[in-house]
Amino acid sequence: MRIDFQHRRAAVTGAGKGIGRAIATQLHHCNAKVIAISRTLRDLEDLRDEIGCEIVHADLASVAGAVDAAAEAGRIDLLVNNAGVSHPQPLLDTTPEAWDATMAVNVRAALVMSQSAARGMIERGHGGAIVNVSSQASQAALADHAAYCASKGALDQLTRVMALELGPHNIRVNAVNPTVTMTPMGEMAWSDPAKRAPMLARIPLGRFAQPHDVAHAVAYLLSDLADLIHGATLPVDGGFLAT
Ligand code: NAP
Repeated sequence: MRIDFQHRRAAVTGAGKGIGRAIATQLHHCNAKVIAISRTLRDLEDLRDEIGCEIVHADLASVAGAVDAAAEAGRIDLLVNNAGVSHPQPLLDTTPEAWDATMAVNVRAALVMSQSAARGMIERGHGGAIVNVSSQASQAALADHAAYCASKGALDQLTRVMALELGPHNIRVNAVNPTVTMTPMGEMAWSDPAKRAPMLARIPLGRFAQPHDVAHAVAYLLSDLADLIHGATLPVDGGFLAT
């Protein structure tokens, strides 16, 4: 079966770079009308040139930024909460500022975007689907990433509560949990060979993810092929979480 999102509007946050950009491109190839939401205007304009998407220039770190972005996006049938940040710090040096900045984007923006999208879906009465981009770090502790791990654990649990409350409205909600993925964020955290080699050794399939690996899983979860999959946290991790 082929995935076809014709006549559906798919909003992707953090679509300017990395995984979000790959997701936006994948959904475009599946015939969705993509609404790309991100922080760097230049990235959005480049993406619009590539795939002809609508763009929303927004900083989702503030409540007002997220509320306005959701309003500007208009009708949303499919939502991918992908925007995320990482501010690596050792546990004892984790600052309240880094903690709050991480939670604001990785968790609160996903809540605010989902509330707005879900209200519209409920009003229209046709259901919808939401995927949250979490991480293997929601379930496996990672040194120097207290705020990040906590934010992704929160996002997994938010996904389950969303599934519980939105399921009766025929709105499916799932998460994907990638391993290290080769994006600007991934390069920042994992380019040091001393860190990279031990992490790679813990992945049974022996490689890090590419953005398209995650994009394929997201497209599947948004599609009718996954129509009984709900409240799941799907590892895209080469088996890391299985060991
Ligand atoms: P990335 O390369 O840093 O790209 C993130 C995108 O999100 C950028 O376009 C960025 O815009 C945008 N963004 C960040 N903060 C934003 C904000 N406040 N408002 C609007 N847009 C914002 O990251 P990535 O590696 O693709 O990560 C995407 C998601 O996957 C994140 O949720 C991340 O936690 C998750 N993930 C990543 C990995 C990995 O190894 N890369 C592994 C597991 C999970 P700017 O460029 O303008 O900041």
